[in-house]
Amino acid sequence: MTTRLTIDLDALAANFHTLKAEAAGARVCPVVKADGYGLGAAQASRRLFDEGARDFFVARLEEGEALRAALPEPDAVIHVLDGTVAGTESRLQAAGLSPVLSSLDEARAWRGPPAALHVDTGMNRIGVSIDDALALAKSGLRPCLIMSHLGRADDPAQPRNAQQLAAFLPVRAAFPDAPASLAASAGMFLGPDYRFEAVRPGISLYGGGPRDRPDPRIRAVATLEAPVLQLRDLKAGEAVGYGTMFTAPRAMRIAVVGAGYADGIIRRAHRGARAWLDGASAPIVVVTMDLIAIDVSECPKAKVGDMVELLGPDALLDDLAAASDSVAHECLVRLGPRAQRLYLPR
Ligand SMILES: *Cc1c(COP(=O)(O)O)cnc(C)c1O
Repeated sequence: MTTRLTIDLDALAANFHTLKAEAAGARVCPVVKADGYGLGAAQASRRLFDEGARDFFVARLEEGEALRAALPEPDAVIHVLDGTVAGTESRLQAAGLSPVLSSLDEARAWRGPPAALHVDTGMNRIGVSIDDALALAKSGLRPCLIMSHLGRADDPAQPRNAQQLAAFLPVRAAFPDAPASLAASAGMFLGPDYRFEAVRPGISLYGGGPRDRPDPRIRAVATLEAPVLQLRDLKAGEAVGYGTMFTAPRAMRIAVVGAGYADGIIRRAHRGARAWLDGASAPIVVVTMDLIAIDVSECPKAKVGDMVELLGPDALLDDLAAASDSVAHECLVRLGPRAQRLYLPR
């Protein structure tokens, strides 16, 4: 009876194959940055490699080095989104990592094997400008991948998607030998025009719907459960926890559960997130560092020792994210090291 984070690698594999079917022939390149969105980059990548993935994306050099050590075969390509930030060229090459080049200077200075080129098509975050990309094409650069990233792919109605796609097409045409990649999880679902030769899903591998809401095609990968430590009956007007975080609007029964924001449940989750026990949902009313109070007025069978699902196949990641005024990505990466971790299948 302890707080437990279960990571279902079969569900991860199922999501990979679902995305592969959606990608309809485009290579699916898992994004395993931030320790596989908090779920364990080594475990996730090894399983995805077994399922056929051969191209991975991480953000940092150190993540790439760790991934190289974790993967069984040297033939996996590991793209490092940070590129060649000052002085990392030799370490990148030593570990057989492929930087994603995002500036003219980086692209000109890189001496290793062909690397990916990241072009900014309107997200205004990172990447070479379209003009610089065209100039690099003229000067003979031969990237192994030409890529860009979408800023509003979660909403298919946004004109920005079509604008970024239109901006990407001439760049892609300037590098006719390089496979192209525009879509992350959400972009993959914008339609075939957005898929090109490679897609880079992250969150939908790990259980998040591509549009920031639950999607029945995507399975939950992470389950966070914690035991009921105490039950208590409140009278109307009684407060729970520090200050006036929660005042019972009526007589109610609450269960105090052994997990808190130190385990990654965002403090704001009390604004509408629901935990599950015994097949019934119970609103989260207070989140403190180690303890969460849930309203079990509708769960008459709740007893001390019962395991409560705070995140998982019932307490869906996207619902938790929406209730916490966050995104699924943040909810996952916050899942702390304190819970006992269990990988399935064992
Ligand atoms: C993080 C990231 C992704 C993955 O995005 P998801 O929304 O998790 O699918 C893809 N491409 C780039 C450049 C990224 O930074």
